[in-house]
Amino acid sequence: MFATLHDKLNAVFKKIKGQAKITEDNIKDAVKQVRLALLEADVNYKVVKKFISAVQEKALGEEVLKSLTPDQVFIKIVHDELVNVLGGDDQSTKIKLNPIPPTKIMLVGLQGSGKTTTAGKLAKYFQKNGKDVLLVADDIYRPAAIDQLEILGKQLKVDVFSKRDEQDAVKIAKEAVQHAKSAAKDVVIIDTAGRLHIDETLMEELKNIKEAINPDEILFVADAMTGQDAVNVAKTFNEMLDITGVILTKLDGDARGGAALSIREVTGKPLKFVGTGEKLDAFEPFYPDRMASRILG
Ligand code: GDP
Repeated sequence: MFATLHDKLNAVFKKIKGQAKITEDNIKDAVKQVRLALLEADVNYKVVKKFISAVQEKALGEEVLKSLTPDQVFIKIVHDELVNVLGGDDQSTKIKLNPIPPTKIMLVGLQGSGKTTTAGKLAKYFQKNGKDVLLVADDIYRPAAIDQLEILGKQLKVDVFSKRDEQDAVKIAKEAVQHAKSAAKDVVIIDTAGRLHIDETLMEELKNIKEAINPDEILFVADAMTGQDAVNVAKTFNEMLDITGVILTKLDGDARGGAALSIREVTGKPLKFVGTGEKLDAFEPFYPDRMASRILG
């Protein structure tokens, strides 16, 4: 998919190199290859359309037509436009730490997207930055999810707040924040319940938690392997909860980053971190230029 985009562009420009002059048709041919590669990679068609028209406009400017190395100029235009769509040097990709601790972070997403693992990864990330973290198991439906978070907490030596007998997720969240305040924690990470599909009860519950604790960040955890589905789900979560950012997991798989491009465009919300494996340190801040290079292959 994406891995071959660079090769395809090289092939297009190799043809061109034999000619005396670059023409508009040559550029349109190259643009077409980019378009196909993005569609093949499951990038949302509306996103592709917008992206392509921006690239075409820039590429048809004198820059490429006059250049002695049109292939490189063209690839740079595509790369720069990708960086731009992925957020450029937008500082909103950083986590906003509340000047009055604790900073409250709510993780939301479908079951299996990697929420609980990501809660552990985030805890480790903050721990490395000298922060005292409280992890909160706020999934009242799956005791296994509580077990999973407790195991992660033990591994990281991070406190985990849970209440196995409580059936009210809002109450758990409120109590957890109170506990974090009295224990002078810097960051509270709330792992909420997920479902296999979006349903109203889940959304209501998440909205109620949001209202009750007023989180600094609501991060939507998206599985990069699920392509278009991840985009649609992100859209719904954003409409319901007005998320503040996205964490894209499982980028160690085949996914080349198409989901990153679509989610950013469709929700307008920044990607903040990426997960690149099952281990707790397989996690890094999101860098638009790295993702653009990955997409270009
Ligand atoms: P949750 O249901 O959303 O809490 O998801 P989990 O955290 O339980 O993760 C579901 C599965 O995805 C587990 O097997 C995790 O080990 C795995 N997982 C989570 N993040 C990543 C990642 O970045 N890369 C890979 N390869 N697997 C991941």
